[in-house]
Amino acid sequence: MVGAGQLGAMLGLAGIPLGLDFLFLDRSADTPAGRFAPVLTGDFADQSLLRQLAERSEVITFDWENISVEALRSATRSTRTRIAPPLRALAAAQDRLVEKRTFERLSIATTRFAPVDSRRMLERAIARIGLPGVLKTRRFGYDGKGQLLLRRPQDCDQAWQRLGSAPLLYEQFVPFDYEVSILGVRGRRGETAIYPLNRNYHADGILRLTLSPWQAPQLLRAAAAHLKRVLEAFDYVGVLAIEFFVHQGRLIANEMAPRVHNSGHWSIEGALTSQFENHVRAIAGLPLGSTAARGHALMINLIGQMPPRDALLSEPGLHLHDYGKEPRHGRKLGHCTVVETSAARRNSRARALLRRLYPQLSFKA
Ligand code: AMP
Repeated sequence: MVGAGQLGAMLGLAGIPLGLDFLFLDRSADTPAGRFAPVLTGDFADQSLLRQLAERSEVITFDWENISVEALRSATRSTRTRIAPPLRALAAAQDRLVEKRTFERLSIATTRFAPVDSRRMLERAIARIGLPGVLKTRRFGYDGKGQLLLRRPQDCDQAWQRLGSAPLLYEQFVPFDYEVSILGVRGRRGETAIYPLNRNYHADGILRLTLSPWQAPQLLRAAAAHLKRVLEAFDYVGVLAIEFFVHQGRLIANEMAPRVHNSGHWSIEGALTSQFENHVRAIAGLPLGSTAARGHALMINLIGQMPPRDALLSEPGLHLHDYGKEPRHGRKLGHCTVVETSAARRNSRARALLRRLYPQLSFKA
């Protein structure tokens, strides 16, 4: 696995009971997966490390997007190792422009957008798409990093100064009602399984809370159809996530992730088969597991600072996942999940937990 962060760790922890072994590559062994599995340490693009990884593995996967597609392709060219998900999907998800064009090509509604490579192109994009809008770096953005909201024409100067050194994308600001995501898995023989719809709450660009299943049958049907179209288009193997804005009852695709996703963490306790186990099953060529929900789950990210462990664990039915990372402002250090017997009970648990953990975040459900 390229990347040994918390996603890699949760993939490893799901695959070990299936009798599989894991080898990771990361810049440091002091990572969440390094607590229980061997890690080759060095640069993600290091050809000799990538070749070692390939020679020692049946299949290579990755736990984050910002790795070099070219380095991975050339290091594995003369080996028999499979790569899943396909590098074409990884390349599309790495570049917001290619990603938007993929959505358009597959008739999936997305935000209006324009590529921006110069100050003049930014002005033209604003004239065409209007204000407010969001200026985003095409690559290497995550958790709201590398993006700025432009409200007035005068914001253009400062935004250009801050982001103008990288290729950019300008997109329409969507005054969305709320955000949802859909996750699904496709196996090596083309079979698919789709998880319930997730409702997601972000603050400062970072996911705070997911409620799943979110009961919105029409949105689920539309989101699942979109997801399946992307899975087929890439002849995809593994878990894929798509995030959407919901605006006036319609889905607008924001972005996709060719990997397990934070909004699917609830599935460890809340689904018959977790997203992590299903990703591992898919890439290993094993039968997929049921994606049905076991109840009504809430997942809260623990960000910046870990709350006292005793306080969390004294919450009835709470499952804690501490990634073992050093605290840092805005960093995802862990998450917790509660599975309730009804949506109403789940929502009121979420409200009470959030009041304690993030009193500043408003939450309506
Ligand atoms: P992203 O990195 O593109 O997923 O953006 C992170 C978060 O910023 C999203 O989940 C939204 O809450 C917000 N955001 C991003 N793009 C837009 C947009 N075009 N309109 C409104 N909100 C946005």
